[in-house]
Amino acid sequence: MQARIHFDPAQREWVINGLKPYISNASVADCYIVFGLTDTATTAHQGMSAVLVPSDARGLSFPRSYTFMGRRGCIVGEVALQDCRVPAEHLIGELNHGFHIMLDMFNFERIVLGGSGVGVARSAFDIATAHAQTRCAFGQKLGAKQLIWDKVAEMSWLIEAAALLTYRAAKLYDRGVSGKSLMKEAAMAKLVATETANRCADLTVQILGGDGLTREYGRAEQIYRDARALTIVGGTSEMVKYLIAASALPDIKLNL
Ligand SMILES: Cc1cc2nc3c(=O)[nH]c(=O)nc-3n(C[C@H](O)[C@H](O)[C@H](O)COP(=O)(O)OP(=O)(O)OC[C@H]3O[C@@H](n4cnc5c(N)ncnc54)[C@H](O)[C@@H]3O)c2cc1C
Repeated sequence: MQARIHFDPAQREWVINGLKPYISNASVADCYIVFGLTDTATTAHQGMSAVLVPSDARGLSFPRSYTFMGRRGCIVGEVALQDCRVPAEHLIGELNHGFHIMLDMFNFERIVLGGSGVGVARSAFDIATAHAQTRCAFGQKLGAKQLIWDKVAEMSWLIEAAALLTYRAAKLYDRGVSGKSLMKEAAMAKLVATETANRCADLTVQILGGDGLTREYGRAEQIYRDARALTIVGGTSEMVKYLIAASALPDIKLNL
C-alpha cells in the first residue's frame, strides 16, 4: 500500500499514514525511509517524497513478523504508520522528488542482489562439483557421466554471465552513472544472477540426489531454500523484465 504524507504547518511536522508488508529489519532498524505521495493530484513519478522515520516516532508500529522457508537469519515484518509524525527536517532531498531517490536505491539494491545471486550460485556449484568428483554410481564417479557434465557446464556459463553483468553494473555505479541511465544494467544483473542462483541451487540438489534433500548432508537444501527469495525481493523477475524491455521500446508506454 502507498503511504500518504501531508505537512502540518502548525506543528511543522510530516504526518504519515500507511501499511507496508514485507519490510526487512522491521522492528530492529534504527530508522525507516518511507516513500509516500505528497501530491495526490499528479503521478507517483512527480508527487512522491521520501521521509526519514526514526524507530521511536509516535504512530509507528510493527503489527507482525513473518517466518520464511529460507533466509531464516533475516528479520522481516510489517510496518504500520498511523498519524505518524516526524519533524519537517526529516524530508530527504526535495519535495516531490522521491521517485528519483527510489530509482537510485533500487539500482543499488539490484546490483547488490546480483552479487548475492552470484555468491549463492557459486556456493551451489562448489557443492555440486565436489560431490560429482567423489560419489561413485554404477562403477564410475558421477562427474564422469555426460548428463552430469551437461549440468556442470550449464552452471559454469550461467555463473560467468551473471558475474559479468553484475560487475558491469557495479563498475557503472562506481563511475557515478545513476537513475534511468543505470536502470537496465542493474535490472539485467539482478535478473540473470538471481535466476542463476535458483537454477544452480536446483541443479545441485539434483546432482546430489537424496543427499541434496537432507539437512544431514550439508548446505544444498539450505541454499535451495535461501535462493528462492532472490527473484522476488528488490523487484520480481517479472518487474525487472518490464524495465529491460522498456529501454528497448522507448516509445511504448508500459502497460502493467
Ligand atoms: C524477504 C523479503 C524482504 C523484503 N524486504 C523489503 C524491504 O525491505 N522493503 C520493501 O519495500 N519491500 C520489501 N520486500 C517486498 C518485496 O519487494 C515484494 O515482496 C516484491 O516486490 C513482490 O511484491 P508482492 O509480494 O506484493 O507480490 P505481488 O506484487 O502480489 O506479485 C505476485 C506475483 O505476481 C507478479 N506480478 C505482479 N504484477 C505483475 C504484472 N503487472 N505483470 C506480471 N506479473 C506481475 C509478480 O512478479 C509476482 O511474481 C521484501 C520481501 C521479502 C519476501
